[in-house]
Amino acid sequence: MRREIVCLLCAEVLLRRVMETAYIGDNIKFVNGKSKRNSGCDRCSNFVLYGKRCTAVSMWSDTVGIPYGPWEEEYLFVIEEEVEELGEA
Ligand SMILES: [Zn+2]
Repeated sequence: MRREIVCLLCAEVLLRRVMETAYIGDNIKFVNGKSKRNSGCDRCSNFVLYGKRCTAVSMWSDTVGIPYGPWEEEYLFVIEEEVEELGEA
């Protein structure tokens, strides 16, 4: 599983890109919330400050690597969750 904390802009870009390049069995989960710490976006130079909106992104495969396990609540106050199963025919 790959995991990233990203700003809202990067979350949108990431979703679009992953939709285009995914393999069968790939999954991506977006958890939207408010940051529990002062940090930065893992993809760009935007700050992700305490209390600000951000997205926790998990990417994993059904067939290889480490499966999904919850981790998001360590980093953000959860508002909503969304799972996309990608690579469908
Ligand atoms: Zn960003």
